[in-house]
Amino acid sequence: MDNCIFCRIVKGEIPSLRVYEDESCIATLDIGPAERGHVLIIPKEHYADVTECTDEALLGKLMKTAAGIGARQMERLGADGFNIVQNNKEAAGQTVRHLHIHVIPRYENHPVIVAWDPKDPGQEELRKVYEILKD
Ligand code: AMP
Ligand code: ZN
Repeated sequence: MDNCIFCRIVKGEIPSLRVYEDESCIATLDIGPAERGHVLIIPKEHYADVTECTDEALLGKLMKTAAGIGARQMERLGADGFNIVQNNKEAAGQTVRHLHIHVIPRYENHPVIVAWDPKDPGQEELRKVYEILKD
C-alpha cells in the first residue's frame, strides 16, 4: 500500500528505530510512546486490522514477538510488566490502518494506562449478551 505509513516504514522509505526484524515482521519504537520503551510490532505484509489477517502462523508470530519484546523491556529497561494492546478500527482508537500490536512497558508507581471502569450489567443483561455472542 503506497500511502500506508507502516508499509513505508517496512520498506525503509520512512526512518524507524527497529529493535527486532525477521522475514515477516518488524518491532520498532513508537514515536509517541505511552511509556519509555513503547514498541510496535508491525507485520511486513499490509492488513488493515486483525479482522483482515487470516494467516494464523503470522498472528502467532506477532504475539510471540510481542511477548519477547515485553520480556526484553523488563530485562533491559527495568519495566515491572507490560501491556499488549491492539486497536481495530477508528472507534477503538486505531489511527494507522495497518495491523500492529503495541507493547507498552509498565513501571510500578506510574499511572495506569490501559484501564476501564467495570460496569454492573446484572445477570439478565449478561445472559442476553451471552445468547448473542455464543457459538
Ligand atoms: P494506533 O492508534 O493503535 O493506530 O497506533 C498508532 C501508533 O503509531 C501511535 O502510537 C503512533 O504514535 C505511532 N506512529 C505513528 N507514526 C509513526 C512513525 N512514523 N514511527 C513510529 N510510530 C509511529
Ligand atoms: Zn500498510
